[in-house]
Amino acid sequence: MPSEPAPFDPERFRHEAHAIVDWIAAYWQSVASQPVQSRVEPGWVRSQLPTHAPESPEPLDAVLADLDRVILPGLTHWQHPGFFGYFPASASGPSILGELLAAGMGVQGMLWTTSPACTELETLTLDWLRELLGLPDRFDSRGTGGGVIQDSASSGLLCAVVAARERATAFSGNAGGMRQDRRPLVAYAGAAAHSSVEKGLGIAGIGREWLRRIPCDDAGRLDVAALAATLDDDAAAGRVPFFVAATVGTTAGGGIDPVPQIADVAARHRAWLHVDAAWAGAAALCPEFRGPIVAGADRVDSWGFNPHKWMLVNFDCHALWVADRGPLVRSLSTQPDYLRNAASDAGAVIDYRDWQVPLGRRFRALKLWMTLRMIGAEGLRRRIREHVAWAREFAGWVAADARFDLVVPPSLSLVCFALRAGDEATAALLERVNRRGHIFVSPARVAGRLVIRLAVGGPLTDRDDVAAAWAELAEGA
Ligand code: PLP
Repeated sequence: MPSEPAPFDPERFRHEAHAIVDWIAAYWQSVASQPVQSRVEPGWVRSQLPTHAPESPEPLDAVLADLDRVILPGLTHWQHPGFFGYFPASASGPSILGELLAAGMGVQGMLWTTSPACTELETLTLDWLRELLGLPDRFDSRGTGGGVIQDSASSGLLCAVVAARERATAFSGNAGGMRQDRRPLVAYAGAAAHSSVEKGLGIAGIGREWLRRIPCDDAGRLDVAALAATLDDDAAAGRVPFFVAATVGTTAGGGIDPVPQIADVAARHRAWLHVDAAWAGAAALCPEFRGPIVAGADRVDSWGFNPHKWMLVNFDCHALWVADRGPLVRSLSTQPDYLRNAASDAGAVIDYRDWQVPLGRRFRALKLWMTLRMIGAEGLRRRIREHVAWAREFAGWVAADARFDLVVPPSLSLVCFALRAGDEATAALLERVNRRGHIFVSPARVAGRLVIRLAVGGPLTDRDDVAAAWAELAEGA
């Protein structure tokens, strides 16, 4: 029976942490030999583990044995070089080390005073990142704006909706709620925008029914004339257009909304304009891809993307910038006595608890900072350029095969294609290749057709893996 560990036993921790790091390194070395998608039946993982929690301590070896026996077979391997589904969630060594450091320090950065470094490193890192992406100065913390790290694009959007709601109601919504006697607030997004827009509107008390989905073209780009007409109709009927979500890189097909024209429409109605660049935002690191990604950003109220999707930062890490932090902070701030302190009272510091839904917050800036420092902007750009080049090469192979259609032109590192034989044949091919386990691709509906999406972005994926994916699909067709 192992002795009970002290809550902090540095020597024991050192020994066990080395074993875990060895386990992770071995996992990366062997992950390519595993089927990408887990093959377990529902309930299998639970059935392999005890029904009740242990009363006595168990040694790390026993836990590691269960990791190998139960957890590994229950994983879909997101870091597998053949993972091309959804949008990859790319981890890197430096970001994982940042995550470990954050856990080791165990700080909670709800206020500047609860760990000044947690706040100030986040502010600095987001100012760095803003500059690297070519986003306008107005998002910089040294002016009226600033950036914050949140868990997800959904949370970032929700915070933007709440700030927009408060701005549109002269900051009375928080107090009085969305009463029926108010003029309805109405939100707008393209038909191809992410489902997090509906979710955020529901949670913020606007109501999912007050989201107008605007038609999009085949590439998933919102129709600006339809948007303008819809806002005009609502305003004429006494409703309040208060929030427009533009998407830069739609989930299904990677479409990029025309943000500058959308900004014209939003400005006419003084509606808050939010850009969801969850996946595509990272490509703005490369000047040659930046133009359409940051176009119009000088006229939007908030702009967010997920470094955890395509910037080698491990999940979770969403970067949200606002041009004017006033409405956000005023909407989300609370002032209980137990959080009062001299620095906050003096207004001398940022307290990030006022920029997000939860009070408490992790030291996420460490992993972003370490990724930027240890991989460097040029290293990140090189990965993105490679992914885009390989996706274009893949698209060329698809286009040259008479059995396939490239349903829309590739968008950055995303390729959407289908079998000419129709949706059923495409669905069957998807199912067949995913079952074989060498690659994983996911479906979507683009331009009215069922497509297979191939999103290049995994940290262990190489050109050969993309070529092997094509061989697998061409052979399976
Ligand atoms: N927006 C877009 C365009 C996305 O593709 C996704 C997820 O893939 C999201 C939002 C939601 O991201 P999150 O999981 O960070 O909430």
